[in-house]
Amino acid sequence: MKNRTIWGCYEQLRPDQIEAIQASTPIAYLPWGALEYHSYHNPVGLDGIKAHGLCVDLAKRVGGAVLPPVYQAANLIKSYPGVDFPKHSIEFSEELIRMTCREYFQQLAEAGFKITVLLTGHAGEPHIDILKEVAEEFNQKMDDCHFWSLAEFDILPDELLVANHSALGETSLQLVYAPETVALERLPQGREITLVQDGIAGKDPRGATLEHGQAIAEAFLDKAAGMLGELLKGLK
Ligand SMILES: [Zn+2]
Repeated sequence: MKNRTIWGCYEQLRPDQIEAIQASTPIAYLPWGALEYHSYHNPVGLDGIKAHGLCVDLAKRVGGAVLPPVYQAANLIKSYPGVDFPKHSIEFSEELIRMTCREYFQQLAEAGFKITVLLTGHAGEPHIDILKEVAEEFNQKMDDCHFWSLAEFDILPDELLVANHSALGETSLQLVYAPETVALERLPQGREITLVQDGIAGKDPRGATLEHGQAIAEAFLDKAAGMLGELLKGLK
């Protein structure tokens, strides 16, 4: 039998369409975002836009249903020690993140998804650790389902992408998924960019390009699609 790759955005699907996707590829993608200050040149929703874009591209390759991004994150730049960016972030408690993640995982499994991929665009700590802990907890208790929480840089070589905040990596990915929201011209010129002054952590975003973003996205999609192929083979 030839495998068909069918996918869709969950909130736009009717029940028969969801069930057809589950019969073909029982994967739910849960992009996890944040509403967080991302310096002068990027929108506050970058993390969710990035995670959703990567999940849609992954679903197009592998199949599955992509949920709307969860714009709920803890450990934002708003409360980061030693910096002062109190505006343009909406921060939630760590306990609420844990509860929300559990409720999604539980109900996605009950609804018939055998694999849940949680891709978090926000990598504050312990926000990201909480999402991974909940995945581990569910992997222990549900042996016919698999839960995978990751950030995009987790499966990429460091020279291509590491955790960053509105720096070269995130800005380049934003140029792939929502270029109209990026204003590189708002970045300062003629001086070094710093976390304290600019709210940017990582490589200089002034070198961000669509091509670099596409290279990151392609490498991520290749790696993640291969790993999901293995997980699908291992399903009971
Ligand atoms: Zn971000």
